[in-house]
Amino acid sequence: MIKINLSHEGEFVFWAIFLGIIWSQIISHFAVSIGLHRYFSHRQIEASPATEWVMIFMILIACVRTPIGWIASHRMHHEFTDTKDDPHSPKHVGFWKVLFTTWELSYIPPKYARDLYQNPRLAWAHKYWKHFLLSTWLITFLIDYRVFIGFSLIPFLLARLGFGLLNTVGHIDYGGSNKPWLNFIIAGEGYHKNHHINSKQIRLHKYDIGGIIAEKFFRPAKRKS
Ligand SMILES: [Zn+2]
Ligand SMILES: [Zn+2]
Repeated sequence: MIKINLSHEGEFVFWAIFLGIIWSQIISHFAVSIGLHRYFSHRQIEASPATEWVMIFMILIACVRTPIGWIASHRMHHEFTDTKDDPHSPKHVGFWKVLFTTWELSYIPPKYARDLYQNPRLAWAHKYWKHFLLSTWLITFLIDYRVFIGFSLIPFLLARLGFGLLNTVGHIDYGGSNKPWLNFIIAGEGYHKNHHINSKQIRLHKYDIGGIIAEKFFRPAKRKS
C-alpha cells in the first residue's frame, strides 16, 4: 500500500509557493515591467527579437492576455489619465472593477496599436495567447499540481494583483501616485507619479529596481530628433 506522508506533501506545496514567488519576481521585473511596460509600451530601451520572445513568453505566463491590447490600452491611459476616456480610471470605471481587472474596452483606436501589429512576435502573441496559456497550464498540471502552482498559478495571481493595485492605489491622486510599498510586487513601478510626469524616463527613483536593471542591461532607445 502506498503511504503518503502529509507533512512532506505540505512541505512540497510550501516550496512550490516559495519558488513561485521568486519566479513571479523574475517575470515582474524582466518581462512585465521592463518588457511589456518600459520597452513595448514606451520604447525606452532597445531589445533583440530573441529577447522579445523571452519577454513575450513570460508576459503570457503572467496572463496579460493579449499584450497588444494591454499596450494599446496603456497608451490610452497615458493620454487620458484619470479622465472619462481613461480605460481603467477607478473614478470613472469603478474601484473594484479596476482592482480585479474586470474592466472591458470595446474599442481601441488603431493609432495606439498600429506599430504593434507590425511586430510579428506581438502579432503571434495576440493570436495565440489563449492557446499558449492553456497549454502551459495543462502541461505543468500534468507534470505535477505543485509545478502548476509554482510555475503557472502564482505568477498569474500576483500579476493580476499587481495590475489591480497599480491602477487603483497607484492612482489615488489625480495623475498618479508614488506608493513605494507596491514595488514588492511590481518591480519599481510603484513610483507611478514619476512615470506619468515623464514616461520616457527609464529609472523612476534610486530604489526603482526594474529601472536599475533596465539601465544596466539594456541600451537606451535612440531618440528621433
Ligand atoms: Zn497610470
Ligand atoms: Zn506607462
